[in-house]
Amino acid sequence: MNVSGFVCTLCGKHYPKQYESFTCEDCQDIGILEVLYDYETIKNTWSKTDLLTSSVDSMWRYLPLLPVKNAPINALRVGNTPLYLATNLAKKLGCGTLYVKDEGLNPTGSLKDRASLMACQKAIEAGFDTICASSTGNAASSLAGNAAKLGLKTVIFVPKRAPIAKITQLQIFGSTLIVVDGDYKQAFELSTKAIKKYGFYNRNAAINPFLVEGKKTVAIEICEQLKFQVPDWVVVSVGDGCTIAGVYQGFYDFYQLGFMDSMPKLLGVQATLCQPLVLHDPLTEEIKESSEDTIADSIAVGIPRNPKKAIRAVANSNGAWIGVTDQQILEAMTLLGSTEGVFSEPAASASLAGLQAALTQGIIQKEETVVIISTGNGLKDIINASKATTPIELTPPTLEALQEFLAKKGSYE
Ligand SMILES: *Cc1c(COP(=O)(O)O)cnc(C)c1O
Ligand SMILES: [Zn+2]
Repeated sequence: MNVSGFVCTLCGKHYPKQYESFTCEDCQDIGILEVLYDYETIKNTWSKTDLLTSSVDSMWRYLPLLPVKNAPINALRVGNTPLYLATNLAKKLGCGTLYVKDEGLNPTGSLKDRASLMACQKAIEAGFDTICASSTGNAASSLAGNAAKLGLKTVIFVPKRAPIAKITQLQIFGSTLIVVDGDYKQAFELSTKAIKKYGFYNRNAAINPFLVEGKKTVAIEICEQLKFQVPDWVVVSVGDGCTIAGVYQGFYDFYQLGFMDSMPKLLGVQATLCQPLVLHDPLTEEIKESSEDTIADSIAVGIPRNPKKAIRAVANSNGAWIGVTDQQILEAMTLLGSTEGVFSEPAASASLAGLQAALTQGIIQKEETVVIISTGNGLKDIINASKATTPIELTPPTLEALQEFLAKKGSYE
């Protein structure tokens, strides 16, 4: 393992690699740690050629940059998702080179699989048999699926508004499911108490520093898929902030190793109905609690748990923050689906909506190269997706009726 230690994101205190707690002993629960690597050792033992000739076709392809001793044995295949060149969409938007990273094609349908499988492997290496998490949905369903494959048990807390598809996934994957009569914050707090009381392994993303390390593999993968040509922008939807922190970390690692010669700018996207990070104070890094009313449930996080890492990821990349309305999210969902054949859940569609808004506002220039990350599969929340569609109308099974119907639509006349 090439981990050299940890640093507290709040007070900057360093800890040796043997340190076992997830958080800083001075700052307690809010003192989230960041994993540090010995890049010199990695450089001396792992070259670009080693990477390019690796036969591993999952997130474990990047093992030298991951905080585990070994890759898991007989796990679900996480990572190695397609990066599509989105020519139809780019044409429609009138912009330059555009890519879509389809994370909805991970085994349980979201980018969260990268973090959850990391949690499973860390739990196995530490000798745990039960993992606990609270989630708005995807962290939970991905944990449940990945744990099931590895023979681990899961105890999962979700807020009552979690979409039914995600709750059903948990049930099918055999979790002990607690649907909390409250919001995400309350589900999170109850899970924290349960972890203390029962001694479960903690998969809460913003507390467990290793999860960002799983998520960062999406950025590393994009970089390899682009043959190490750095895009100008990478667009990421943001809830707790761990995903965008991971995306930053992945690019940063490759930059440190000399695999890339610059860093992309990050555009952090939130829903205007819940955008505490968009509204943060850049000087103090302070955020104010927000309500969680958006349809983009996976990024409806009123109190982001990882604000510092997210704010610094965007600031250090010279990026920007942007808010998008639920209406813009629904329109982006239809646009992405109809131009590129990628169906994204609302939180994932927010990234395209963010790109559109950033192009309009001149934050992103038309000629710049952009990667949007579609973080989760549209089939996870068809109730909200159906708000983007027109009501279904029945056609009698005759040619006359068909002609009438098509004439009304103005197609195939
Ligand atoms: C979790 C999630 C996000 C945001 O990740 P954070 O780490 O909470 O910022 C975005 N999109 C989808 C689909 C997610 O599940
Ligand atoms: Zn601290």
